Amino acid sequence: MCWRGRELDVVSQVEAIEHFKAIRGDLERVPVAMTMLEVVDHVALERHPMPEMFRMLVGALRTLEERLSPALLGSFLWKLLALEGVGPSIDQCAGCGSEGELVAFDAGEGGFLCHSCRRGQAVGAETVNLIRQVLSGGLRAALDQPPSRATAEAERLAMLATEYHLDRRVRSAHRGAEIATAGWQGWSNTSNSDAAHAGLDPGAGPDPGAPD
Ligand SMILES: [Zn+2]
Repeated sequence: MCWRGRELDVVSQVEAIEHFKAIRGDLERVPVAMTMLEVVDHVALERHPMPEMFRMLVGALRTLEERLSPALLGSFLWKLLALEGVGPSIDQCAGCGSEGELVAFDAGEGGFLCHSCRRGQAVGAETVNLIRQVLSGGLRAALDQPPSRATAEAERLAMLATEYHLDRRVRSAHRGAEIATAGWQGWSNTSNSDAAHAGLDPGAGPDPGAPD
């Protein structure tokens, strides 16, 4: 039960409609759920109904309750960014508009970049394809993908883009990162987004010394 107060509303009684037992009992799934909830909490505005965002969140939680898809968190964040109107440019270079191969990602530049414009993070072609799939109606197929470098990279870049647009760290993501990524060899060092924010990937661009 909820009463509207002058500044804060008073909630005196709640009833859980869905319990999400499988999520709550799984140390790998809890951080994913917490991260999605924290991001939505930052994005949502008080007293502004956001039915589409709510549907996305519930849908993602239901999917997570069924299984932990390696593409779930990244896909959720990319779709949320798109919903908020800050989704990445992924069909053409965010720098020059060319439709050639996209090889880098820079949140500040607005998305993915071609060979000539590349800066920020180097990105594999499979990662670009996966994110493109997620943003063009292929979410189901994306969620069926097994864990790979592309699913890990898509999630890492989604988190970078999300934190860039929120202008804050998503604490749940970093707290749970070690557990969540423990099985993905080689990606255990990608959870530190401060380092990722601060430094350019030396392999990504022609001028690694340029300011971000
Ligand atoms: Zn370009």
